[in-house]
Amino acid sequence: MAKAHHDRLPTHFLYSDEMGNFDFGPDHPFKPERATKTFDLCTRYGVLNYPWMKVVAPEAIDETLLTLYHEPAYVALLKEATRGHVSVEMLERGLGTADTPILKGIYEWSLKAAGGTYRAVQDILAGRVQTAFNLLGGFHHARRGAAEGFCYINDVVIALKASFQKAPDLRIAFVDFDAHHGNGVQEAFYDDPRLLFLSVHETGKTLYPWSGNETETGSGPGEGYTVNIPLEPGSDDEVYAFVLDEAVFPVLKAFRPDFMVVEIGADTLISDPLTHLKLTNNGYQKAVRGIMPICRKILALGGGGYDLYRTARCWTLAWAILNHVEPEDEFAGLVGGMMFGPEMEVGSLFDRPYLTKGEGKEKAFEEAQRVVAFIRERVLPVHARP
Ligand SMILES: [Zn+2]
Repeated sequence: MAKAHHDRLPTHFLYSDEMGNFDFGPDHPFKPERATKTFDLCTRYGVLNYPWMKVVAPEAIDETLLTLYHEPAYVALLKEATRGHVSVEMLERGLGTADTPILKGIYEWSLKAAGGTYRAVQDILAGRVQTAFNLLGGFHHARRGAAEGFCYINDVVIALKASFQKAPDLRIAFVDFDAHHGNGVQEAFYDDPRLLFLSVHETGKTLYPWSGNETETGSGPGEGYTVNIPLEPGSDDEVYAFVLDEAVFPVLKAFRPDFMVVEIGADTLISDPLTHLKLTNNGYQKAVRGIMPICRKILALGGGGYDLYRTARCWTLAWAILNHVEPEDEFAGLVGGMMFGPEMEVGSLFDRPYLTKGEGKEKAFEEAQRVVAFIRERVLPVHARP
């Protein structure tokens, strides 16, 4: 294989202004604009300037691929909804609720989000691209026949089903660091041992989608290939580091994936308005850094993140880590304070360390220890076999 002078395969940053400009409405927490903020921040910090990097505009997925997962009747209703039509049937399938409203153009926008993920999976598996980041990808809550949790089309399931069709023997890991349990992806592969589904999330006792208990471990041939690590509200970087080191990384290493899709939602942060975890971007970075040595082929997906400014910082850091480059603020002191966020953190992408204390922290740690013990006893041995 011919190698470029920089000796690296290309990496793709999947983004377009058109994707970032789509609006879910003023009262909806999902803001595609955070992708635009990330693009701006990456530009400002010089992490999109390297010769192997390419900004790629996501293109619509071939509609016939949707039914690799979704029910045709649901797709038909979604196509009606995107034109602004409303019916009772739609509501039964989540279309027209507060979380998944009927929006003009939502079908076309979702096709592009799914197309970005699909194309990136194909490019990476074919060896054309080393790693990619689809900022507006990772709609892990979309169900076979219903929209939910801000998700209409499950880009993850469709792209993975398509790759298993082409290469049935692939070992793929889907690692979900978003604060919400990846219920749609789990459901689609619950009995399938080709995909290791691993999700670290706030416990379903306190957060939508109310699932993702550690006892959900897969069924039939898929037993042990679904791994759930629920965290208590108030879990901080220390608790997070513990579950990463003791459960997440060991299970992934034992599974030995050929390819990893990693959902790097930034809604685990303490400032996130929708969740109750208390991470800083130090804990977030540890997750992204830790998966890098496990498998070289990685597709990152943006997922959630509802504090726009801090989500953009997380995603910028993640892109730098995926590319082994260091962010440098060329304009610090010039435009610094004018562009983003709170004054105290201007000039740095990195959060100050912060740990929680007291009873809540103790409970979070005890729960994490209990869950990790369960995973090490019940799930890890499935993969540690010779
Ligand atoms: Zn989320």
